[in-house]
Amino acid sequence: MKSTDSATGHCTYCPRLCRHACPVETASGREALTPKAKMQTAGELSGKNVALDREDVEVLWGCSHCGACEDECLHHNPVGQTLYAARAHVADLGLTPEPMHAAAKRFSAFGNALGVSLAEAQLAIHDDTRAFAGAPALILGCHALGDPSGLAALAYDLARRIRPDVWLPLYRDPNGARAICCGRTLNEAGYRTTLEKHRAKMNDALAHSTEWWILETTCFEDFVAMADAHPNKPRVRTFAEALAASDLKPKRRLSSITLHLGCGVRRHAKGEEALVALAQRASDDVRIPPADMPFSGCCGGRGGIQEVMPKVAREMGEGRRQELEEFKSEEAVHFSTCCGSQLEKTAVHLLSLFA
Ligand code: SF4
Ligand code: SF4
Repeated sequence: MKSTDSATGHCTYCPRLCRHACPVETASGREALTPKAKMQTAGELSGKNVALDREDVEVLWGCSHCGACEDECLHHNPVGQTLYAARAHVADLGLTPEPMHAAAKRFSAFGNALGVSLAEAQLAIHDDTRAFAGAPALILGCHALGDPSGLAALAYDLARRIRPDVWLPLYRDPNGARAICCGRTLNEAGYRTTLEKHRAKMNDALAHSTEWWILETTCFEDFVAMADAHPNKPRVRTFAEALAASDLKPKRRLSSITLHLGCGVRRHAKGEEALVALAQRASDDVRIPPADMPFSGCCGGRGGIQEVMPKVAREMGEGRRQELEEFKSEEAVHFSTCCGSQLEKTAVHLLSLFA
């Protein structure tokens, strides 16, 4: 924890400049969930004389690593990164919150946190998993594969129209074929050793690949971390970027669109540009909620908030839905199944406009 001590130290003596930026604190109204208070808990974990129990450390899961507080902070203090590192320390102490521990156990058994086998869902879309030299690998991700709306099949169909040689990778473990997963749940749980082993296994399965298209924007940075350790240093793009670079057009034109840019996208400006370009293909009137709205930072779909603090996650989803509805457009769209789980009935996946 030494490397995070200066970050937690900044917060200790700060007048909480970032206080109102945190969507988790806004939704909960709890002092213990301000960035400063969470950082103090992280700092106490590395102290020798403070004994913390399971309830004390739970606040560390009140963070989606959305970066909203970091944007407000004069030090650009790496709050999300520090709180995630503290979760790893909690895991070492055996104090991980039970819902997160259970999610990690499902992950070990099924290769994803949903607790179902998703390889069959992928093989039903296309059963040839051979890699073609130089062809991009389309990585559908657990949430899209588990989504009953047919999102994963639609993404594959669109990807084939951009690059007919695109392939769908799978990997094998002793229990059989598995869909590729970035291991975000293990990261959120703080199980870093297991995460590193998982990522190495994924990189083995993608050994010959040189380009990855990532459908789930929420997982993008996890795949970037995985690619950093890959011997080929593959080019990693969001599927939105690949689609925006093609000339495919949506099938539906709308009078106006409100575009929800999740926190995963906001941290990757390039991804943001692609999403705006895609939305503009569907409408001349694209409305983007400003970044300083209370729930622009995060709608609560990632970080383990849904698992550990379901009531807070519900409040965050409700807050974001109300914000999107203020724009009164014909349709609100998002590009993440994690955001979609929070924005149900208010926003649809942008890809559905191409169906
Ligand atoms: S993250 Fe920055 S602004 Fe927020 S409490 Fe810490 S030092 Fe202060
Ligand atoms: S949820 Fe976002 S704003 Fe709140 S502490 Fe985490 S990174 Fe900061």
